Parts: sequence; C-alpha cells; structure tokens
Amino acid sequence: MRISTKAMHEGRLFHPEGAHTPPIFQTGTFSFKSLKEAIDVFKGKKIGFAYTRVGRGNPNFLMAEETIAGLESAQDALIFSSGMAAINTTVQNVAAGGGHIVCGRTLYGCSEVLFSKILPRLGLEFSFIDARYPENVMKAVKKNTKAIFLETPTNPTLELADIKAISDIAKERKILVIVDNSFASPYNQRPLELGADIVIHSATKYLNGHGDIISGVVCASKYFLREKDNSLEEWRTNQGPVPSPFDCWLLLRGLLTFGQRMETHNNNALKLARFLEQQSAVKKVIYPGLKSHPQHELAKKQMTGGFGGMISFELNGGRKETRKFLEKLIKNSFIGLAVSLGYAETLIECPAVMTHASIPRNERLQKNITDNLIRLSVGIEDYQDIEESFKEALDSLK
Ligand SMILES: *Cc1c(COP(=O)(O)O)cnc(C)c1O
Repeated sequence: MRISTKAMHEGRLFHPEGAHTPPIFQTGTFSFKSLKEAIDVFKGKKIGFAYTRVGRGNPNFLMAEETIAGLESAQDALIFSSGMAAINTTVQNVAAGGGHIVCGRTLYGCSEVLFSKILPRLGLEFSFIDARYPENVMKAVKKNTKAIFLETPTNPTLELADIKAISDIAKERKILVIVDNSFASPYNQRPLELGADIVIHSATKYLNGHGDIISGVVCASKYFLREKDNSLEEWRTNQGPVPSPFDCWLLLRGLLTFGQRMETHNNNALKLARFLEQQSAVKKVIYPGLKSHPQHELAKKQMTGGFGGMISFELNGGRKETRKFLEKLIKNSFIGLAVSLGYAETLIECPAVMTHASIPRNERLQKNITDNLIRLSVGIEDYQDIEESFKEALDSLK
C-alpha cells in the first residue's frame, strides 16, 4: 500500500458486529472469561487487554499505533497522552542514570525547557549544537552519550539536519538517533528509512490534522518499545502518560484524510512561499522547497514527499510593521492567530512574542528568531483565498 492508503486501512482491527468504523472502547478495565485467561494475560503468556493504562492498554491505542507505525516504516509504535509525554518518557528511558544527549540548538519550546531546565535536575545531561553541520554532532559526543535528538526542519527557522549523515556517525558509536518528525510528517520524511532509530511525533499536529486532540507517539523497534527489560511500554504503564481511548479514535479518524491533507499542505505552502518571495513588503522567506533555502539540496534528498506546510518569513521593518500586518490579516481573513500547527486551517504566529517569548532576546537573535519573523502553518483552504488574504494585508503596509 502507498502511504495515503496505509493511513486509511492499516491497523484498523477490531470490528465487533461488523462495524465498519472502529468503535470507541471507552473503558478503564477489561473483564476476563476465566481466571486462567486472567493469569495468562498477567503472566504475559497471552496478549490481551487488562487495564487501559497497563501494557498494550486499549484496542483504540493499538489501532492508532499500528497505523502510525505503518506510515513511518516502523516495526511498532507506542501512543502517549501528548507529544511532550512521548519525548519525556523516551529521553528519560534512553539516558536514565546520568546519560548525555546531544541535541539541536533550536527545538520546540517545551522540549528546550525540558532539556535545559527540568531533566538536568534528574541528572540527565544535554549539549545543544547547530545540527546543520554533522561534524558538530561528532564533536559534542562524550563517553556517556546515549542519543542524538534532532528536529528537522527546526521550529521556527526551518533549518535542516542531515538525518542519514548523522545516523551513519551515530551507528559507529552505538548511539541512538531520535528524530522529532512532527514538522515534516511521515508523508514527507521517514527518518527510520534514513537510519534513525526512534521517531517521535506530536500527533496533535499533522497526524491528527483537525486540532481536536493533544497526543504523542513513538515509533521504533518492537524490542525497544515492548520487549526489552525497561521497555518504553513498561515505562508508560508505570509512569502513566496514556491518552484516552476517545482521543486515539479521533486520531485514527483524522488519519483517514492524511494523504490528501499533506498533498494540499505541500502544494499550498510551496505556492505561497513563491508568492511571498516576490512581495516588496517581505524581506526574506524561509521554506525548504525554495531554491533560495541554503539547504534546498538536502531537503530534496531527505524530504521525499514534499516540503511541508510550514513557512517562516521576515517583513521589512520591525515590531511596528509586524504588528500592523498581523492585526490586518486576522481582522480581514479566516486566518487564525494561534500557536500549534498542522491543522487543516491556516494558522499564523509571531515567535518572538508567542512560541519563543520565554527565550531571552539576545539568545533568540543568535538563533535568527528576529522580532519581525512570522511563522505560518499553511492550511488546506483553497489556495487562491489564502494568497488573497496575504496580498491584502501585505499591501496595507505600502
Ligand atoms: C507541538 C510539538 C511538540 C509537543 O507536542 P504536544 O502534543 O503539544 O505535547 C513537540 N515537538 C514539536 C516539533 C511540536 O511541534
């Protein structure tokens, strides 16, 4: 099956009474037919459901997990209550007991706080590097390095890391490569096929696509997720970051249109990036699909499905012009001023005062997150309506 078909048909198990659409197993616990069956399930001799937090959890977990594993070319997947729960549990699991992790210098805001402030209190160590250059990864590796954690493209500056080159280096040293693939989605980029070991998603974003849940998922080998001692499933059972069955059901429903949505996100974003590049009010457009992107060649190599729906751009001027533009745009169009991304609807935000406001200004500027940088999650509305909304707001700056 191709990826759009997989998103619709893979993993849709459990059809009691012939229900075509999978039911919601909105239950906390499961009854057994006999004591013998209960004993076999608890001993691990038989695969079965016992309690929605424990082990395999719930049939709705399993359906979402199988589908997403299929999309990422993974052996298996494990669903969590949020993207942050998936990241936190994975990173703690691989670096428990004072392990070191090398990670990109620009990360999703909460990942950055988790790695720089919270997990160091538990004795985990992190080095932040500019992951555009694979040699930087090498230089940061220490004796206790357990993993390399990458986001590509990064948020909000859309810098890329060469997943294959970094995975090749890591393999020699037996270091795990973890990729947060939320921005690209498996439609466009499949890190496991390039040599990475673990892929994490905020399923809140493109996978669900409808903005009605918070959810996360980890894709990896069966051994890492379920079989080894200290498996991620064991951590999920005992630390407890499980989603609700209903959220898993909504995720699976959102995935029905995954292929169509991604195709439209890709097409709309590429057209809009080209349009923005030609506007006199715009200073610079950052989009991996543009020839002007410094890593466009790498993007073509590793983002095989398309370049995604995320665009960042800078306006000419500073805070004043940025504010005027945003006020005009949200007042006169359907475009929402909101954090988050990957929804069917177009969303826009200003990182300096919203998603990345907690970073001190100097540090922010070093990462090229300027006051006039705008981040855009291009939706699947009719392209012409999106372009016209932007044209009107940009023309008001003249
Ligand atoms: C949103 C996001 C997260 C966090 O996911 P939640 O589902 O909000 O917990 C992590 N990484 C990236 C790249 C994200 O965009």
